[in-house]
Formats: sequence, structure tokens, C-alpha cells
Amino acid sequence: MVMMTAPNPEMFETVACYLCGSKETRPLVSAEDDLTGKPGRFQFVTCAQCGLAYQNPRLKLEQISAYYDDEYIAHRKKTNWGILTPLYRHAMGKHDRNKIALVSRYLPLHAQSAVLDVGCGAGTFLAEVKARFGAMVVGIDFKDLSGTAWLDGVDFRCGLFYEQDFGAQRFDLITMWHFLEHDYDPLRTLRTARDLLAADGRVVIEVPRLDSTTWRWYHERWPGLQAPQHTVLYSKKKLLQGIAAAGMEVVDYLPYGAFPAYFYVFAGLAFKHLKGRGLDLAKAIYPYFLGQLLCSPLLIFEKRLNLAMQSVICRKRP
Ligand SMILES: [Zn+2]
Repeated sequence: MVMMTAPNPEMFETVACYLCGSKETRPLVSAEDDLTGKPGRFQFVTCAQCGLAYQNPRLKLEQISAYYDDEYIAHRKKTNWGILTPLYRHAMGKHDRNKIALVSRYLPLHAQSAVLDVGCGAGTFLAEVKARFGAMVVGIDFKDLSGTAWLDGVDFRCGLFYEQDFGAQRFDLITMWHFLEHDYDPLRTLRTARDLLAADGRVVIEVPRLDSTTWRWYHERWPGLQAPQHTVLYSKKKLLQGIAAAGMEVVDYLPYGAFPAYFYVFAGLAFKHLKGRGLDLAKAIYPYFLGQLLCSPLLIFEKRLNLAMQSVICRKRP
């Protein structure tokens, strides 16, 4: 675990509602960094005008990168998990295969497809898309992970999505897998995505769902809070409002995603037990897979239980 001191008040900034601009808020929940156990308390509020839940104050952009260290799960460089390595690889590979299966229901991918993944992390999804379909793949992340093998064949851009210059390039598919809840300007991101879509292109967004079963179970220890990285907590209603406000329309809405809801079931229990001490993934990996085995009868119904995730497939409004 990385030793850090608690963030001081100068590291934070107050934000207005990302959707309606109101500064009137009500407290929602106070959270800790349950995932890594770094010190600090972080406040989430609800907009008094429109009901959007978001972190306020939030860490300034230049402060947040310290919270995305090498332990951060989406930036996983660790590949050696001892005897569980094959199981871990299978689980991670399955996550990318789930993403491709989800996307393929709405858009046939092929060698001429142009695919953009916003918040691409280590790039495993794009590497899989390229390997399977031969598509042109572009990835963006604000953390430079260009050293990873998966980003080898990827046109990787480091920085903020809406500051990239793509010239005349348009994309058939733009994906945001657990990106929008980290974003510092989600409406601008959604509008940028709309503008970058090819005529019949699709945007696929997956985020944790605030109005879900695991939120009701775990509340201040809900893994979807992921303080301080998560800036916005989307209910179904607010997510769809944001998409409409960005000039897109919904092709389909799913009360699940490619990311296993079981992770939230497991992590919420662990967070309640650990009370902010941080989850040691190397120790948690055994109970994680054991729990998954025990929960497997329940998880058959995962897609109907509204456990934790949501995805939206959308397109440009004509
Ligand atoms: Zn609002």
C-alpha cells in the first residue's frame, strides 16, 4: 500500500451540478477510499434542483492522478497471481469478451470499423477488438500506459478526451467502460462523442448504477462510490437525461454491463468489514473466486436483479 497523507482543503474545489449548473446541494453520503485505504473523507451530494448525485467538493484534476497508481484495477500491470494466474487471466479475458459480446449485439465489427475507447486503461479491450476483427483502434487515457503490450497496435492518446484533435476521423463505435463516472466534465465528453460519431455509429456507455440493489445494501461502503475517483453517481434517470442533453438518443438500455456485478457484491462486503483499511487484492483473490463459485446460482439471474451496473447504447439524434 502506498503511504499518503490525507488531502488538505486546498487540494479540493467546489463544483456546480454537472447537468443543470445549480450550486444548491443536499448531503448524500460521506465516503472513504475503501479500495486502496488511502486516508481522507470524501463528500457526495445530491443536486437540490435536478437530483444528480456527485462528489462535492472534488479533488482538483492535478491532484487526482496520485489516486490512480499502479494498484488501480483498470491499470493492472500485475500479471503474476501465483497459482491463481490462469483463473485471473480467464476472468480478465472474460471481461473483454463480455464487452465485445455486448457491443456486437448492436453493431457488427469488421476490418473497416473505426473504434475509439475512452478511458482505455491498459488497452486489453482494444487489443482484443483488433485481434478479432482487424478494426482500426484508438485509445485515450489520462494516464500514460503506452508501455503495456496491449497498446502495441493501438493509436494511443494520453490526455483528456475532449482536448484531442481527431481531424476528420469519425468512429463507428465509441466505448466508455466505467469512464463517465470518473469524468470532470461528462456533458462535454458526451457532446464530443456525439460529434465524433460516424453517421450510423454507436456510443456504448457502462457505469455503476446508483439506484441499484448493492447501493441499498452497502450505502457508505458501496463500491460504486469509489472515492475519490468517482465524480458522478448516475441513476438510470440522470444518465439518460445526460445523454439526451448531449444530443443523443437511446438505442437500448440494460440494467447490467460487461463488468461483473459480483465484484460489487464481494467488494461491498469486504469494505464493510475493512472499514476503510483498503482491500489487499492479493489476499482477496482467494475469497473472491470462492465467493463467486458459491454465488453462481444467484448470478444466473444477475441481469434481472439490477445489482450494480447499467449500460446504454446510443446514437446521434438525427
Ligand atoms: Zn442539477
